Amino acid sequence: MQDLKQFPVGPLSAGPLTAAPGSVVRGQMDLVELADGTPVRFPLVLVNGTKPGPRLYLGAAIHGDEVNGIAILAQSIAAIDPAMLAGSIVCVPVQHPLAFYADHRFPVSQFMKSPLDQAPIDAWTVFPGDVRGNLAQIVAGKLFSLIRECSCAIDLHTPTRGGRYVPIAIVPSMSMGASAERALWLAEQCATGFIVRGDRGMYVSRGISCVEATAAGVPAFTFEIGEGGRLEQAVTDEGARCIANALIGLGMLEGKRKLPPVSHVMRDFLGLRASRGGLLRTEVELGAVVAKDQVLATIVDIFGDTVETIRAPEAGVFVRSTTLSNVSTGERAATLGLL
Ligand SMILES: [Zn+2]
Repeated sequence: MQDLKQFPVGPLSAGPLTAAPGSVVRGQMDLVELADGTPVRFPLVLVNGTKPGPRLYLGAAIHGDEVNGIAILAQSIAAIDPAMLAGSIVCVPVQHPLAFYADHRFPVSQFMKSPLDQAPIDAWTVFPGDVRGNLAQIVAGKLFSLIRECSCAIDLHTPTRGGRYVPIAIVPSMSMGASAERALWLAEQCATGFIVRGDRGMYVSRGISCVEATAAGVPAFTFEIGEGGRLEQAVTDEGARCIANALIGLGMLEGKRKLPPVSHVMRDFLGLRASRGGLLRTEVELGAVVAKDQVLATIVDIFGDTVETIRAPEAGVFVRSTTLSNVSTGERAATLGLL
């Protein structure tokens, strides 16, 4: 095991909750107050083991339409007997309740009210946050107060509606040093089958939840799986397999990790956008290795004529498909992971 921070056996306190050794405690933590005085709270689950070990943070649905992560964490935690656990788990299954109510990446209020007061809008990108800032910053700040007390963290996502990912671990840039290397190690323990370790782009930018956690000495990665707004038991099972693997790899549970049939480590993403509008026909299976110039998708206009053929500019892995039935110019039609 990597030299992650270890905790002795004892009461686990996080937010307003405390869990005795060998127990699971479900509760809530204050987030904000709405205009009518209604409190909005995060759900919070603590699982405290009976042996020393690391403290793992698990979070999902910081984007409100990413429901698979919620189901994955529920299934993963239900399978744990705290009497058999080494270390502990701090879990926030819905990291942005207001966005979850809206079933959208962002809470509707951030579009409806003064735009001047609503930037930044995406809590995922404004870590470590600011509890005296706007809503997105408060969400990030309160979550970070939990994350920074843990040994390591996994942040579950799906693409937004119309996108579908293979189970893929996206780690911070290795230029961040030992903490990023531990995040990569943790991603390897999950054995999702797909890892991206890149140096550029959104996922490795400062402000992203897992990047700031890693910078603060809490190795963390983003775990994308499934499709936005769509709950699927097969995806839940696959995600739960990966979380169980992490717990075994961390030494928190006994057992043997269940490995995927193949495993790809990639250096970057390459998003391919439509230049024409029409119906999108995806021609390859998600997760497939593709050759340079292989056809990934075709765009057929509403009269039935093929107006664009999207090919792989280089060899790679087809890691993210577009499940929308139609695309306009500029929309992403396929995404490769580059080997
Ligand atoms: Zn997301």
